[in-house]
Amino acid sequence: MESNSVTDVVAKQNYLIPITKRPELCFIRGAGHYLFDQHDKGYLDWIQGWAVNTLGHSPEVMQQALIKQSAQLINPSPAFYNQPMLELAEMLCENSRFDQVFFTNSGAEANEGAIKLARKWGQKHKHGAFKIITFQHSFHGRTLATMSATGKEAFAPLFEPKVSGFTKVPYNDLAATESAIDDQTVAVMLELIQGEAGVIPADAEFVAGLDALCKQHNLLLIVDEVQTGIGRTGTLFAYQQYQAEPHIMTLGKGLGGGVPIAAMVIDKAISCFDPGDQGGTYNGNPLMCAVSAAVLQEVLAEGFMAQINRVSEYFCQQLSALAEEFGLGAIRGKGLLLAINTGPFSGPQIVELAREAGLLLNAPREDSLRFMPALTLTETEVDEGIALLAGVLTTLKAAK
Ligand SMILES: *Cc1c(COP(=O)(O)O)cnc(C)c1O
Repeated sequence: MESNSVTDVVAKQNYLIPITKRPELCFIRGAGHYLFDQHDKGYLDWIQGWAVNTLGHSPEVMQQALIKQSAQLINPSPAFYNQPMLELAEMLCENSRFDQVFFTNSGAEANEGAIKLARKWGQKHKHGAFKIITFQHSFHGRTLATMSATGKEAFAPLFEPKVSGFTKVPYNDLAATESAIDDQTVAVMLELIQGEAGVIPADAEFVAGLDALCKQHNLLLIVDEVQTGIGRTGTLFAYQQYQAEPHIMTLGKGLGGGVPIAAMVIDKAISCFDPGDQGGTYNGNPLMCAVSAAVLQEVLAEGFMAQINRVSEYFCQQLSALAEEFGLGAIRGKGLLLAINTGPFSGPQIVELAREAGLLLNAPREDSLRFMPALTLTETEVDEGIALLAGVLTTLKAAK
């Protein structure tokens, strides 16, 4: 494809408010595991919309769902029920421990909903308790309240004054969590794998301990599964690998497979919004719900999860071999949310060279690479990506 005015990145980038550093590439099309830029150069994509494209780029089932639903009904308003909304809510509840769903447009908005629901529950059932314990290095979104909940150090000085009522404690530290509980505490909110922090899993005993603490102190347990949900960690939801009975789970990213939809899913015993407390113009719109239902149907298909676990194991074996060869460090994560410590190499530098070589990666930290491929990954793409990565590491090693 010729570079044309639409794709002239250099000329037009100044029309955008700069919010992040981007390479001078403009992606034109995607197909499965690959993205193609304005020069039609192909890239093996292990970012996939930021752990979003569950089935890869532009899968047939999503195209069909969009076409069918857009011809039938796009938005009757949030004041009315629609069929895809009802069906998707049923699918989420029937395949989890939860009973009720509130749909949103982003993960941050789902977490906002969880924070509001916890505060409402505290007003109604816990003498106005409102404080929520969150964890250092956590990430919960970019609205003001979710930035306030987030434990990322870089967020601390921004946009003051923040929303108050968040107590941050060290992750995987049960004793610190217990000492942070006071009369005003209403909930504990955590990611079961801290994704943005660099793919740091919660320990089994820590989560079991949190669950027990919440029961003992009558607190709500909120799991932010925006990144870990929808098969990403090898079970439909990550909480299913832990001994815990969360009251609230938030979903986003993989739920839409690439389109904007997210959700707060709750235990009906704590349901307490009154009419008017919560809502949103696009929330539960049939177009996004229909696409999400089509994605979820694929993820729930016989054998889909087993393949994630098989390919994850193969991926980890290949990463181990690479680590051995180039002196990289530990591998972290579960399913297809994996990371590796880059040892003597710079993560961001690997990312740049890999992109030039045709492999899209993310470095959540200076010393780590994160892998978030489509869940339809096979051994073939693992081999291809590992070979590209080995090429990059060979170049960097030679330059040392
Ligand atoms: C991405 C992410 C969010 C925010 O989701 P948005 O859709 O970007 O608002 C919240 N929590 C976690 C764990 C995430 O990974």
